[in-house]
Amino acid sequence: MSQPEDLPAIVAQVHHDMQRHLGRGKVADYIPALARIDPRNFAISIVTCDGRTASAGLAHVPFSIQSISKVFTLTMALNRLGGALWSRVWREPSGSRFNSIVQLEQEKGIPRNPLINAGALAVTDALLAAGDVDKTIDSIRAFLRRLAGDPSIVIDEEVAESEADTGFRNASLANFLRAFDNLQSPVEDVLRVYFHQCAIRMNTRQLARAGLYLANRGVDPISLGRVTTPFKSRRINAVMMTCGHYDASGDFACRVGLPGKSGVGGGILAIAPRKASICVWSPGLNAWGNSLVGSMALQRLTALTGWSVF
Ligand code: GLN
Repeated sequence: MSQPEDLPAIVAQVHHDMQRHLGRGKVADYIPALARIDPRNFAISIVTCDGRTASAGLAHVPFSIQSISKVFTLTMALNRLGGALWSRVWREPSGSRFNSIVQLEQEKGIPRNPLINAGALAVTDALLAAGDVDKTIDSIRAFLRRLAGDPSIVIDEEVAESEADTGFRNASLANFLRAFDNLQSPVEDVLRVYFHQCAIRMNTRQLARAGLYLANRGVDPISLGRVTTPFKSRRINAVMMTCGHYDASGDFACRVGLPGKSGVGGGILAIAPRKASICVWSPGLNAWGNSLVGSMALQRLTALTGWSVF
């Protein structure tokens, strides 16, 4: 077994072991910009709390971060509102699909958690209370640029526009939230910000780097800047562990044993507390909308490193 210190050997091993699985799963095809991504793409990056990095595969190729953005908007909203946020969105696993509507109606407009679409829309609305649409989009992009230490991070306007053209379910969720008085800004404004945050393009290196504060009690261990409090960092990790893979969160916890957040672009951000931040990318999704080979790669990684929290 590789030593956890030998990160280049570990990522090379994971990359090697995934070769025979590449292309498995189904690439998201609800918008053309995602449908045309090569399902055989694969990348993995690790950044450790002591500043080491290792990558394998296409770690320099940006992809659509999609729902991984929900971790960062949650951090921003918790920083602004503190515990008051939990009156608008719970922190329980949903056991339902990421864009389910039924539960939201039954539970009177309080989404189960901030990492499903309904909850993320409420979080985005909380961010919008501080500014207009463009300012809020700018602040989310600026937050990610700062965390990743990379001013070149951009939003893919084609993705944002096609999300808007096809986002009927998200529009329904936002309207339900509004009907239950859990949305303050106009529905179209909340959706516009949400579609833009989903359309941010980053590669695995940038995302692993951006998530590092979550492995280090809210402080970026490289810049030493405080991103959030230890208390909030613990909350975000807990929500990622219990809710980050929707109705497959239990299975991911069993297989991988790390707080994680997936996106339909095929990325997964995973946090090894006190050790490292990890990002994998493989566009083929499983039946729950999570990266199939990405989950396998993380399972292999925690087997090789012993980084599971359990
Ligand atoms: N843009 C997608 C949506 O809102 C994001 C979902 C996801 O990544 N799971 O439906």
